[in-house]
Amino acid sequence: MPDIRPLAHSSALVLNATYEPLGVVSVRRATILVLSSKAVCIADGGGILHSERTAMAAPLVVRLTHFVRVPYRPYVGLSRRAIFARDGGKCAYCRGSAETIDHVLPRSRGGGHQWDNVVAACARCNHTKGDKTPAELGWRLHVIPAAPRGISWRVLGHRAPDPRWAQWLDLAV
Ligand SMILES: [Zn+2]
Repeated sequence: MPDIRPLAHSSALVLNATYEPLGVVSVRRATILVLSSKAVCIADGGGILHSERTAMAAPLVVRLTHFVRVPYRPYVGLSRRAIFARDGGKCAYCRGSAETIDHVLPRSRGGGHQWDNVVAACARCNHTKGDKTPAELGWRLHVIPAAPRGISWRVLGHRAPDPRWAQWLDLAV
């Protein structure tokens, strides 16, 4: 197996045969796909992989040689990191730096742990809010919480994209 340690980047974007982004894998996994002819490297990350017999450019983006049918996953998994990423790390109530997750309609009052009822919040707002609703406090939400959408969310989840993937992820749009 090629030595991948000297590489600055450690993950590669995988595209379907149709160029539709499918997901992110380790450079090691992408290299195996290329070496086994399951994928071709369409952009390399600048590093060189050395093995006993050969040297090859470290893949940054690979495209599968055969189309794979993947189940469409419209739903992005709810996690603390994903909520912080969606809300840009800012408190939904005061726009300060968020450290906690708040349930807009408190769980004690039947609020669900779901995308449209969770926001990032600073500790002070979260503590002050307690088991009240924003309306009871006269507070206004700066964001309407909703499940994140878009191809980059579907492919990357909460991960920050490598800027060099932008053209394949339609990030400029
Ligand atoms: Zn706050």
